[in-house]
Amino acid sequence: MILPILKYPDKRLRRVSRPVNEIDDRIRKLVEDMAETMYDAPGVGLAAPQVGEDIRLVLVDVAVREDENKRDLQVFINPEILAAEGEQVGEEGCLSVRDFSAPVSRAMKIKVRATNLEGETVEFEAEEFFARVLQHEFDHLDGKLFIDRISPLRRAMYKKKLKKILAREKKNG
Ligand code: ZN
Repeated sequence: MILPILKYPDKRLRRVSRPVNEIDDRIRKLVEDMAETMYDAPGVGLAAPQVGEDIRLVLVDVAVREDENKRDLQVFINPEILAAEGEQVGEEGCLSVRDFSAPVSRAMKIKVRATNLEGETVEFEAEEFFARVLQHEFDHLDGKLFIDRISPLRRAMYKKKLKKILAREKKNG
């Protein structure tokens, strides 16, 4: 089932999500629906708060970057960044931020601990694009969006643009 994706400035995107205590059928069904939603969008990542669930759960699939038919879904539950180093700046967009992208600074390399869908603890290192996607998605779990990490001038420009978009949407019902 494709789920509606919340859009900024929806306040639910600003909540700090709570840990997942048990991986039950409800979580597995949510992962299934979130995967369908992410591939349909399409996007390389989707965090539970983006579909209105305030739990620490993130889906990522960056394989599409190599080959548009390739899929490699990765599920991260209660993820933590254990270490970060270096810096990279790259263009980011977000399924919850309409019609906008901007350069964002992130760590080049991170060490992550998370639980997978089988309930196992995994630890791994990620760098470059994969590390960027993970940092972006994990931010969602703390109620943060990439537009919080851009220059105030760019953010002001986006807010102005968004006002117009919202006014147009209202007019068109
Ligand atoms: Zn996002």
